[in-house]
Amino acid sequence: MPEPPIADPTTPAAHSPVAPSPAAPEAAPTTPAGLVIALDGPGSSGKSSVGAAAALELGYRFCDTGLLYRAVTWLSLHRDVAETDVEALVSLVSEVELAADAEGRLARVLVDGRDVTEEVRAPDVDAAVSAVSRVPELRAALLDRQRLLAAPGRIIVAGRDIGTVVLPDADLKLFLTASVAERARRRAEERRVNPDRPEGRAILADLRRRDQLDSSRAVAPLRPADDARVLLTDGNRFDETVKLVVDAIRKAEASRPSAGDPRTARKSRRKRRGPQAPEVASASDPADSAEGSRPPRVPAPAEPVTPLAHTPIESHQTLLIRFVAWAARLITRAVTHVTLEGDVDAIPRAGPVILAANHASNADPVVIGAWLTPRLGRRIHWLGKKELFDWPVIGWMARNGGVHPVDRSRADLEAFRLAQRILEEGHLLMVFPEGTRSPDGALQPARDGLAMLALRTGAPIVPIAVVDSDRRWPRGRLLPRPGGRITLRIGEPFRLADDPATSGRGRAAKGAATDRLMGRIAALLPPRQRGAYAAQVPEAPASADEA
Ligand code: C5P
Repeated sequence: MPEPPIADPTTPAAHSPVAPSPAAPEAAPTTPAGLVIALDGPGSSGKSSVGAAAALELGYRFCDTGLLYRAVTWLSLHRDVAETDVEALVSLVSEVELAADAEGRLARVLVDGRDVTEEVRAPDVDAAVSAVSRVPELRAALLDRQRLLAAPGRIIVAGRDIGTVVLPDADLKLFLTASVAERARRRAEERRVNPDRPEGRAILADLRRRDQLDSSRAVAPLRPADDARVLLTDGNRFDETVKLVVDAIRKAEASRPSAGDPRTARKSRRKRRGPQAPEVASASDPADSAEGSRPPRVPAPAEPVTPLAHTPIESHQTLLIRFVAWAARLITRAVTHVTLEGDVDAIPRAGPVILAANHASNADPVVIGAWLTPRLGRRIHWLGKKELFDWPVIGWMARNGGVHPVDRSRADLEAFRLAQRILEEGHLLMVFPEGTRSPDGALQPARDGLAMLALRTGAPIVPIAVVDSDRRWPRGRLLPRPGGRITLRIGEPFRLADDPATSGRGRAAKGAATDRLMGRIAALLPPRQRGAYAAQVPEAPASADEA
């Protein structure tokens, strides 16, 4: 039996007479345990129609998140708000509500109580929506709302980044796609337009443009999650694709270890799941795929993966974080003198940010955390080795202090995914790009991971130099040497994506991006600490702290 209709519980519409949801308040608590399904895919891949039909058949709820982006875009066009006016754009979010249609699907959108579902599908919104939805602050503002909708479970959530960003722990991730020609044909049919006439060709051109914009945007780009099942639907009839989706969900339901406890199911799924390439399925022969773009099927690794301890990804500073920072300042001041230089206020107080520093001493994280925490007013997220979390008090403090455990035996992939998630959700991440402490205080060659992360997420980077920490607490020494001075120097925020020298793909481009990034850190360090990146710094002396 289908679920009773519900409205978006995060908006006033849930209790508004406009939303036809007499049973709405019941929906969340009385819903029997059910799965959370992420259904992503490009425009006109059938996510909304197939997802809604599958939900109806299974008695699931359905939510089309594209409507949220469309509604904000529609409103921005009406109010003349440019996508560059981020604050004004984000303020529009509170006026947008999803509401249930006659069949209980969250497929209607209300703006200030008025039903604008038809209007948000108009060509002017089609043309503007991708530019609006690539604004990171807007995406961050819509994140909690989408998660709240999914929280009661038994729901299919359709979008572009549901499996990768919004619901990375979804029980099942499906990525529905078809060649752009086939999608354009379907959309033209829907709008009763001849695909070979100029209007039909305009649909094809618009889909191509939106595909390109959605998949190349820095934050939450359109792509299948690594553990998504890709369904190619070229040549399928509508009912065949619905059947594929329904079967996949039934299979996922049946393979749950405990039908009663979705959390157990989710945990065990995460245990089973390792780093894995997308799996592909199609009702039609893959050779039929118009673009022949079927990714290869890659077997899942046999080795079970134990989930790591979980540190909340949040932005507020807890009392514990503030207390530890205060205590660390007190202790550090008893040992040495710390000077903070540079424009700390230039570090963005909201949205994704990467702090990148040189690493020459155990004192570095202490000084950075202790001096920046009170100035930033937002949580610093760190990546730390998972062994740290096994120590009784330290482990508890790390978990509650914003340190995320990384398994060094599979560190690259693990750390990268975690870091990407932290940034995509709009938080601040602190990274030492060299990976480990320098043996002599000078910059070591860094790996390309951080540059890739910055390019992929579009996050601004704030270069930081910790000067002379190696002299106070060198590697190999149990305790710091009292006296002297450590300078914490904050550089100007910049974006790698804005630098033409780092555009392009491949090893050379990544290497160039890493050189740029490390060059910015080197420029803040005295010559003796510039090490591998001395050549990246222009002639002029960086500072007066040369000794
Ligand atoms: O799915 P639909 O075509 O209605 O989505 C409209 C636009 O909203 C997409 O082109 C995309 O730019 C944006 N969108 C998004 N993330 C989602 C859903 C939609 O960026 N989860």
